[in-house]
Amino acid sequence: MRGFQAVPVAAVLLWASVAASAQVSKPPVKWSASPNYTSSTRESSYDIDAVVIHTTEGTYSGAVSWFKSPASGVSAHYVVSPTGEITQMVADDNIAWHATYYNKRSIGIECAGYAGKASTWTPALLDSLTKLVAWLCVEYDVPVVHPSGNAYDEPDDTYKKSGVVAHSQVQPWNKSDPGSYFPWVSFMADVAALIAPGTPPPAPLGLSPDGDAPATSPVTLTWSPMDEFAVDTFHVQIERWNGYAWVLHAEGFPVAATTTATISTAGYYRFAVWAHNAAGWGPGSAYAEFYGMPAPPVPAAPAALSPSGGTSKWGPSVAFKWGAVAGADKYEMYLQYYSGGSYKYYYAWTTTTNSKTVWPSATYTYYRWWVRAHNSSGWGPWSGGGSPSAGTGAAKFYFNK
Ligand SMILES: [Zn+2]
Repeated sequence: MRGFQAVPVAAVLLWASVAASAQVSKPPVKWSASPNYTSSTRESSYDIDAVVIHTTEGTYSGAVSWFKSPASGVSAHYVVSPTGEITQMVADDNIAWHATYYNKRSIGIECAGYAGKASTWTPALLDSLTKLVAWLCVEYDVPVVHPSGNAYDEPDDTYKKSGVVAHSQVQPWNKSDPGSYFPWVSFMADVAALIAPGTPPPAPLGLSPDGDAPATSPVTLTWSPMDEFAVDTFHVQIERWNGYAWVLHAEGFPVAATTTATISTAGYYRFAVWAHNAAGWGPGSAYAEFYGMPAPPVPAAPAALSPSGGTSKWGPSVAFKWGAVAGADKYEMYLQYYSGGSYKYYYAWTTTTNSKTVWPSATYTYYRWWVRAHNSSGWGPWSGGGSPSAGTGAAKFYFNK
């Protein structure tokens, strides 16, 4: 949910907990109590709003015996094995010791395996973890989201987001678990699907552009990805104001949360988005409106090139100049030199100004050159109406040194 956290998170939470609770039950666990915890009466003492995912960096049995040892001073509420067995070691009401300043607000789950090994994420482990996290989200109203960023993004290097988080987000300075192989996107989609099967996605949010500066064709339209709703297709409808009414301009069915719109007539446009998953189409979003402008024509060919006309230039450098072209954001200058009976490539430069100084290394020979201008629509024609590849239309000079 890049960039559009606040509203969707609340919406997800409400939607998930209302639609859900009946289907999700706690998966079977084997109890093996750890002495390492702070006694509490959550959620009356502290609200549980996060689940922290860890890897043990060792075996399942090794982690369980480590957490049973008073000397270790660490624990987790649950440990999940590669075969999907779950050992509960601290009651949810109590505070396990797994993520320093996040302990009071969270449930800690250790996955037997290694942050640096893809083989940690067996289907059986992920299946049990999905069921456990889905139940925890429903039971304690933990948002069904994996929030972005880490502690370094926030004041006092203190992470503050609710949802299903990585240990590495809470303590980025010394923790990397559960690591880059953990499949966050599919995992969160599976959790959401378990919590609310048969529920179409809600209306998409975070549509852009929306009322901002004029957008030049092709316009990139985006909205929040909604990974947690297992969306497989979006429907995008773009309309144009023709002075009397909104008329259909274009529509599409992208699978990612973005598409582009080609604008050939300047004016007001609006678009709405619907999301689809296995359960069907959800409701449409609110319209986002923007002022769309056609792409400008490519820039004209630069003129007034200097040096040109076969003039003789004395070294050591040559100051190339040409007339600025309206709307250009950069230029490409292409230079050839005469050697062994033909013109050969010397070099090409890209510059944002309409001049370039060069120190040619081949002396007492002819040079020829071209320049062209670029804008948001692409490259314009070469100066002189020709091209380097055809060898025509060049500006030419003799370099003496
Ligand atoms: Zn950890």
